[in-house]
Amino acid sequence: MTQLSTMTMIAGATDDGHYANGFANGDMNSANKFYETVNESDATFNNNNYEGKSMLNCKSDQSDYDPKGKNESEKDYMFLGIKFKQPLKVVNAVSIIGFHLVSLYAFLVNFRSPHLFTVLWAFLVGGIGGFGVTAGAHRLWSHRSYKAKTQLRVILALCFSVAGQNTIFDWTRDHRVHHKFSETDADPHNSNRGFFFAHVGWLMMKKHPDVIRKGNQVDMSDILADPVVQWHQKYFVPLKILLCFVIPSVTPVYFWNEEWAIAIFTMAFIRYVFQLNFTWLVNSAAHMWGNKPFDRKINPSENLGVSLVSMGEGWHNYHHTFPWDYKAAEIGDFRYNITTSIINLFAKIGWAYDLKQPSKELIRKTIERSGDGSHPEHGMRCMPEEVPMEADENSNLVD
Ligand SMILES: [Zn+2]
Ligand SMILES: [Zn+2]
Repeated sequence: MTQLSTMTMIAGATDDGHYANGFANGDMNSANKFYETVNESDATFNNNNYEGKSMLNCKSDQSDYDPKGKNESEKDYMFLGIKFKQPLKVVNAVSIIGFHLVSLYAFLVNFRSPHLFTVLWAFLVGGIGGFGVTAGAHRLWSHRSYKAKTQLRVILALCFSVAGQNTIFDWTRDHRVHHKFSETDADPHNSNRGFFFAHVGWLMMKKHPDVIRKGNQVDMSDILADPVVQWHQKYFVPLKILLCFVIPSVTPVYFWNEEWAIAIFTMAFIRYVFQLNFTWLVNSAAHMWGNKPFDRKINPSENLGVSLVSMGEGWHNYHHTFPWDYKAAEIGDFRYNITTSIINLFAKIGWAYDLKQPSKELIRKTIERSGDGSHPEHGMRCMPEEVPMEADENSNLVD
């Protein structure tokens, strides 16, 4: 998950340093116009999913794409005597490092015990934000693995703001590109470039030219057309400031007389930094460590630890094999997949519907055809070499 996965500056610039979308002013005409622009683009890198400068309300020099890199993708860039493959996004890097340093200072150097309610509040806020990322940006908007009524989409968009990550559009675009071109230069957080790059480094530098080039093949029309996403885009910055930083920090002071400093350090820094890292682990740890019971030839792995901290997103070998399953895992267990349990609750009242998942038969055949043998039930029947699988009614849904 990216996607998941991005950090936006309080000042309002996205982590990518751009507002790469066509509905910065939130109206449908603009969205449609942008999409037409995207389709008509001859991949000049100025009017595509990743840039769209002509439609933006931000300065074009905040481009995420390094034009020099177009034909010189192997060129090294120097900063403070250190070599980088892409130019650094210095503001992003400083901001990300700054949040971590302040959190470390508050947590390790100047720790003062928060009120019990503040601790519980931090877990609750973390869970609310996490749900917005996992059930919203990831399983709903990126993968369309279920459908959600407007009221649920509004809840998901608000929860997503609590997590303080990127816009829904940017998050979804990065994540779709990640799935389509996993572990290649076109993958925004290609794990073959190492743990640090996949975890957070990719947010600190401009994207590889292949991410832009191949990313243009990804259809974003459904996202551009969603009025809830348009509304969220329009109020992205105030929603983020209010829901990620202000309300979480003010609540402990107002309701149980927490000290201001403790409330701010706990909620706006420590909680925020933990939440970001839990999301980022899906792109780093879950692409490196764990079993591969469903597809032994891909990097994404089943990682219990990541699943526990990311509300069920660490079952990543399964997820990359069946990205359209709303559970993002074979199991929907409350302990290891809280997101699925909550979506099930919304399904009970009809706000979530058309929940997609593969048949047990398709899962079994997939395990036997391409798994690494570690699946507890079907793993022993894994075939040493991949053989063609009969078509399944759901198989055409796989990305
Ligand atoms: Zn995904
Ligand atoms: Zn992944």
